[in-house]
Amino acid sequence: MSDRGAASEGMRVSRAAAQRLSLYLRCLTAWPSDAEKISSSQIAAAVGVSDAQVRRDLAALGHLGQRGIGYEPRELATAIREALGIHRTWRVVLVGVGNLGRALLRYQGFRAQGFQIVAVFDNQPTKIGECIEGLRVRPLHELEATVTTEGVELAILTVPKEAAQSVADALVRAGIRGILNFAPVVLRLPQHVQLVTVDLAIQLEQLTFLVQHANGVAPPAFNG
Ligand code: NAD
Repeated sequence: MSDRGAASEGMRVSRAAAQRLSLYLRCLTAWPSDAEKISSSQIAAAVGVSDAQVRRDLAALGHLGQRGIGYEPRELATAIREALGIHRTWRVVLVGVGNLGRALLRYQGFRAQGFQIVAVFDNQPTKIGECIEGLRVRPLHELEATVTTEGVELAILTVPKEAAQSVADALVRAGIRGILNFAPVVLRLPQHVQLVTVDLAIQLEQLTFLVQHANGVAPPAFNG
């Protein structure tokens, strides 16, 4: 993931800390439901960061937990959800119902996590009117009215890179507050619109970098 890395104005938690909070939340939701406490070192071990880092990140959320005793898992999960903004439902549109767009629409996990995709858009005449996962594919000229009437705040952008900036501009004009961009381009957006770009090719480059520079681990013999 990339984009505006520093903490935005009014935000108490940096982007890097927010990513760790998401990991802590995964750990908490997998924690035994009858457990009364969880310690920072247990979270640290589960997530793979230092104990001190966990304590610093969680201290930014307010007075949670007791020194030497730990955190109450449900209270901590609630505080993290509030910090991440996922204590409420977000209404989302998706633009570009190609291979990736359709795969994302099939994924049931977004709704379970409070992200409700309420409308989908494309510019290809053969796709407009098609029903995908219960949603009618709409033409882009319906974007503004849909965002307003459906109370949409977020958009997922899965169009080719050549179209990404102009569609992003249309999303901004329609009043969208945040874009999750999958196109491999750097989008230019006004300050009031937040951007997160997901680029799996960059993640693979990170992986090859790590594999190439891993020391002391001999690769197994290839017999193919
Ligand atoms: P695709 O060609 O199958 O789908 C793109 C869709 O966008 C099509 O339905 C097309 O009609 C629509 N479209 C094109 N221009 C449009 C416009 N101006 N307005 C509205 N809709 C428009 O492509 P795909 O394989 O689904 O990939 C989609 C995007 O995701 C590409 O930018 C691709 O590079 C990117 N991608 C990213 C990752 C990642 O890791 N982030 C992985 C795969 C693909």
